[in-house]
Amino acid sequence: MKKLSLKVLYLIVMTVVFGLALIVFFTVDVQVQEAQNKEMLAEEARVFAAEMDAVWEFIQNTQKRINYTSDGAYEFKGLHCAIVGKSVGILFSANNDYKIRYTNFNPRSVQGLPDGFEEKALTLFNDDRSQKEFYEYSEFNKERSFRYARALEVDSSCLECHGEPAGELDIVGYPREGWTLSSVGGAISIVIPVDIYQEVVVSNVTRDVGFFLLITIVIGGVIYFITARFVFYPLDKMKVAFSDIQGGDLHVTMEESHLTKEISDLAKNFNEMAREIKTVYSKLESEVADRTIELREANELLKKQRDILQRLNIELEQKTKSKDDLLSMVNHELRTPLTSIITFAEISKTKSASAADRQSWEEVEANGQALLAMINTMLDIARSDAGSIKTIVEVIDLGDIVSSVKATVVSLITKKRITFKASIDSDVPLIYGDYEKILRMLENLIGNAIKFTSEEGCIELKISYDAINNTVLILVSDSGIGIAQEDMERIFERFEQVDSTSTRHYGGSGLGLSLVKEYAALQNYSIAVESTLGKGSTFTIIIPKKAIVKE
Ligand code: ADP
Repeated sequence: MKKLSLKVLYLIVMTVVFGLALIVFFTVDVQVQEAQNKEMLAEEARVFAAEMDAVWEFIQNTQKRINYTSDGAYEFKGLHCAIVGKSVGILFSANNDYKIRYTNFNPRSVQGLPDGFEEKALTLFNDDRSQKEFYEYSEFNKERSFRYARALEVDSSCLECHGEPAGELDIVGYPREGWTLSSVGGAISIVIPVDIYQEVVVSNVTRDVGFFLLITIVIGGVIYFITARFVFYPLDKMKVAFSDIQGGDLHVTMEESHLTKEISDLAKNFNEMAREIKTVYSKLESEVADRTIELREANELLKKQRDILQRLNIELEQKTKSKDDLLSMVNHELRTPLTSIITFAEISKTKSASAADRQSWEEVEANGQALLAMINTMLDIARSDAGSIKTIVEVIDLGDIVSSVKATVVSLITKKRITFKASIDSDVPLIYGDYEKILRMLENLIGNAIKFTSEEGCIELKISYDAINNTVLILVSDSGIGIAQEDMERIFERFEQVDSTSTRHYGGSGLGLSLVKEYAALQNYSIAVESTLGKGSTFTIIIPKKAIVKE
């Protein structure tokens, strides 16, 4: 719904209020005028009635002299109260619209018969003797008129002609009505035309309404002017001030010296609010400026760090490239000739005629194998660091692993005359895993076992199924030097060896076990070690339930 402006609403309310007041005033004024008129007409009728009474009384007082001779003998000259009263009434009404007449229920002539209004009045007077007059607006000769009736009480003078005995002829020869003293003998009926008075009412009401309208317009105008001056005008100014603030002009102020306290207070509050907004805004601005500087500084720092990072990245890329180059160099430049040396040593060993030559070739082959294993481990570690190691999970029969390991181990153990046993229980299930990685883990573990076991010792690879825990266990045991309890954890860290001086004695890089641990983790396997110093060690790869193929 469209909202009305305060001014329009104010004008509508004023119009409605003044309109209603006008209607009420008009209605009341018409009624008051009518009532006043009625009273005025009644008063006028009373005057007429009193005049008729005076005529009646005059005749009554003088008729003895009129209707008697100077000798005192009765000589009716045609004059008595009723005749004179009626005649005066007829004469009075002759040339105007006024009517004065006498009436009763049983008149001596038909002219005296009562009409509707008069019957009503006579009935009222007869029924209630305290009622002496009756008047109202009523039709007379089809015109709205003011009708007045006054009761005529029978007095002693009336009894002469109208008193008892009823039916006896009176002095003028009419039968008497048989009235008694103080009874109602009839009524004097007066008709006054109202058109002139009606015109007066109309003109009075018109004048009053006109005056009321004039006063209303003047009062309304004054009220509107005062309201506009002291309310609308300041409100309009405030509206403009608010839109100025909204538009960003925070220096706007309002005139505080107004005639009305409320508007002055409002203006003061507005100025106070504008000041506060200005303060908050300037605070905000300085905070924003501070934040912008901080942001700029942070941005610059970030830029610097990004540059450093970019530089480091480039360096890293170069280093990675160098490392990759080194790896491919190691791969190509070391492994290729080493493999050739090992193959050559194998062939030469079988072709050697003397036992001394064969032994020499066997040593070359064994050392070559050890070196190759070390290079392979280093390459694996490097690949793992580069994140380029991928696991290829497949279903594996661990029997195949045992066969592969056996073939690799044979050449390593012959020199040391170590007994190597490899077995797999018949209930070992198929597993999920990376064949190459499991092989590399076992090569490392068995390689260590050979390395740390003295001549004529024994090494065992045993694969079994733990039905209780539903796991497959790959155990590599040796009867070697053993590992102290406190070293059992750290030997799985890179470059950690129980005794670094042993490097020279046993050889090795300290990387084998860390690779075993990483490969185990890659396949979700775990690794455990048990050992007794001087008696030997057992490394166990535990393949969990979820890596076991369900049958
Ligand atoms: P390394 O190349 O030195 O063998 P590893 O990581 O394979 O490196 O082994 C770390 C160290 O753990 C070895 O140097 C050795 O001290 C100890 N170790 C590993 N396997 C055995 C074992 N079977 N018997 C005794 N000590 C072992």
